[in-house]
Amino acid sequence: MSLANGRGYLAIPGPSVMPEAVLRQMHRASPNIYEGELHALTDSLVPDLKAIAKTDQNVAIYIGNGHAAWEAALSNVVAAGDTVLVLATGRFCIGWGEMAADLGVTVQTIDYGDSAAIDLSQFEEALSADKSGKIKAVLAVHVDTSTSVKNDIAGLRRVLDDVGHGALLMADCIASLGCDNFEMDAWGVDVMVSACQKGLMTPAGISFVWFNNRADAARVARVSRYWDWRARSDPDYFFQYFGGTAPTHHLYGLRTALDLIKDEGLEAVFARHAKLAQTVWAAFECWSQEGPLSLNIADPLTRSHAVTAISAGSPNGDLLRRWCEEKAGLTLGIGLGRTPADAFFRIGHMGHVNAHMIMGVLGTIQAGLTALDIGHGKGALDAAARVIATA
Ligand SMILES: *Cc1c(COP(=O)(O)O)cnc(C)c1O
Repeated sequence: MSLANGRGYLAIPGPSVMPEAVLRQMHRASPNIYEGELHALTDSLVPDLKAIAKTDQNVAIYIGNGHAAWEAALSNVVAAGDTVLVLATGRFCIGWGEMAADLGVTVQTIDYGDSAAIDLSQFEEALSADKSGKIKAVLAVHVDTSTSVKNDIAGLRRVLDDVGHGALLMADCIASLGCDNFEMDAWGVDVMVSACQKGLMTPAGISFVWFNNRADAARVARVSRYWDWRARSDPDYFFQYFGGTAPTHHLYGLRTALDLIKDEGLEAVFARHAKLAQTVWAAFECWSQEGPLSLNIADPLTRSHAVTAISAGSPNGDLLRRWCEEKAGLTLGIGLGRTPADAFFRIGHMGHVNAHMIMGVLGTIQAGLTALDIGHGKGALDAAARVIATA
């Protein structure tokens, strides 16, 4: 029999759970795009997007997913023949680097593997070795969604400054924004990219590039009109925000999502994500005591609060995902970019999630482990409940 009928839970690291309030706002007739409410609404997004990134600098809005923001950010500051340094801690930063390579950029990569954060000393060596200063930008991912590692972005700025290297610091916060604290200005980040369908709780389709004046000054000579961040961040040119028709319904949805974050309070949103992540970790620490399961990132200080990657042994990752979906209506994330992929799974706990949802995920995984006879330590749900109980 299946117990999956009822409301499903897509517990993957994006798209995340869409709040009813966001969906309701999107269910409307097409608004006037030439004047009126939509223009005021778009203008109102800008200060809130800056507040979430903790920056006073600029933000450009694009129609497209996170990959569009990757290309937009690169297109403004690097051109064929330039060099970037990629600090890879999983599939996503490697992917951003591949996109740079496709644009004719020379890509230098330090690969820290699939279960560790960026090591600052290796980064320092690479910068120190670049005597001619040919590295124009450093690409790093705040939270790599494939491994669930969280990197010390402020540490990268410290190293750049210590070495006296002028490269731009570019960060991908697609998974982390609105889940893990990020401080663009205080941490000295020059360019940051994100998208709307993860911590920002809006159906996939719009993405963002935040950039400071230093990055703008380093802009390349020719930028395609579609990606040019100047036009898209200029409030006097509404049409150029979007380079064509505005993503009308997404803007309404995003407005509501940003209101939800404002009403809860950004620091409270971060605290909720931290607590729910600790709940997930507490369960897996127990399950890992016996059998094949383990948290992909050993050090809690370098674990994301938005997503958790689990190593389960091949083919347990796939078996468990299939069981949870077919028997219980819970969809877990695939072992993206991992080998063998069926040995891994991921839990998205980003955005519109709360204690009962996370306890439901963990209880369902417990049932799946039992049904599939996958070995596991005892007491995981008690441990998780204790974390919730002390909130
Ligand atoms: C989801 C994600 C991306 C890709 O975003 P898309 O919207 O799927 O293009 C890139 N980087 C990170 C860290 C992500 O989590």
